[in-house]
Amino acid sequence: MPYRGRSIGAGRHRLRVHQRIDTLESELETTKEHVRRLENTLQAVVRNADDVSIGGPCSCGESFLFVRDRELYCPQCGYQRTI
Ligand SMILES: [Zn+2]
Repeated sequence: MPYRGRSIGAGRHRLRVHQRIDTLESELETTKEHVRRLENTLQAVVRNADDVSIGGPCSCGESFLFVRDRELYCPQCGYQRTI
């Protein structure tokens, strides 16, 4: 394995990586808050809707499944199945 000497830019590169990680951490925090708000809202919506509940994630990976009148439905890809 060839030895790679420290280049002059290595320190600056490390700083950029740190800044990138900081940015990602704050984006992740924002995303987590957003997801939590959406979950709370969705739970309230489901509580207020008589015959709808939320099933597991759809195989398309884009949405959870609606469960309504013994039928699973994905609002994202249109998948439908009677249970
Ligand atoms: Zn789907």
